Amino acid sequence: MVEIFIFIFGLFFGSFANVVIRRLPYGNSIVKPASHCPKCLLPIKWKDNLPVVSFLILGGRCRNCKTKISIEYPTVELLTALIFLVGYFNFGISVNLLIFLILSIFLIIISFIDLHLRIIPDMLAISLLIFGLASSFFNPLISFSFLNSLKGSLFGGVFLYSVAFLGAKIYKKEVMGGGDVKLLAAGGTFLGLKNIFLALLIACFIGGITGLFLILIGNKKKSDFIPFGPFIAISILIVFFLRPQNPFLITFQP
Ligand SMILES: [Zn+2]
Repeated sequence: MVEIFIFIFGLFFGSFANVVIRRLPYGNSIVKPASHCPKCLLPIKWKDNLPVVSFLILGGRCRNCKTKISIEYPTVELLTALIFLVGYFNFGISVNLLIFLILSIFLIIISFIDLHLRIIPDMLAISLLIFGLASSFFNPLISFSFLNSLKGSLFGGVFLYSVAFLGAKIYKKEVMGGGDVKLLAAGGTFLGLKNIFLALLIACFIGGITGLFLILIGNKKKSDFIPFGPFIAISILIVFFLRPQNPFLITFQP
């Protein structure tokens, strides 16, 4: 029963993530105007705006003008719901779950904005960093240590900044954006000093494999740019998800 509730909860947060992804980078308000079709601009009724369900009922088209709705909307909604569910199975109802869920929403939004526009808005990366520092007192992964949170952020950020700096010197072009550095710094506040390097290693690994795969199937050329942000985001989540099986787990006692 709780599982269903968590899943539906995740779907609605995914729907919220969609709004942020489509509006925040353009400086548009997240609350106003209400959801509307990007083509015919007609407001979308609440019953046509239910996550995933409405997309299926409407056959992926606007009720009014029949313009195709991007498959990305239900994808983000389902992805968020699945992460919420998996988080619940792993952490139970706990402080860790709450931190994990907020972290996931941020990372989903950041990843999709990076995929669309190849930028990571400062406002998101810095908010995440502040939340990471503030929640460090409740985060068993870093032994509730604010100092470890701060170290993870500083060293992760400085290290990736150096890599980006050297890369730019060697290849004479930007190989990694400042956004990636800020994202890793933000992730460091959740993972601490050791784990942020583990996350970076995983990010390079899956990023490398994905890049190679895209080149092999002919989707990308060697010189093409593949945003690194989503790989950092996935890796931060993986490490946060896999590491906290320890006696420090704080659970709510009902
Ligand atoms: Zn329309």
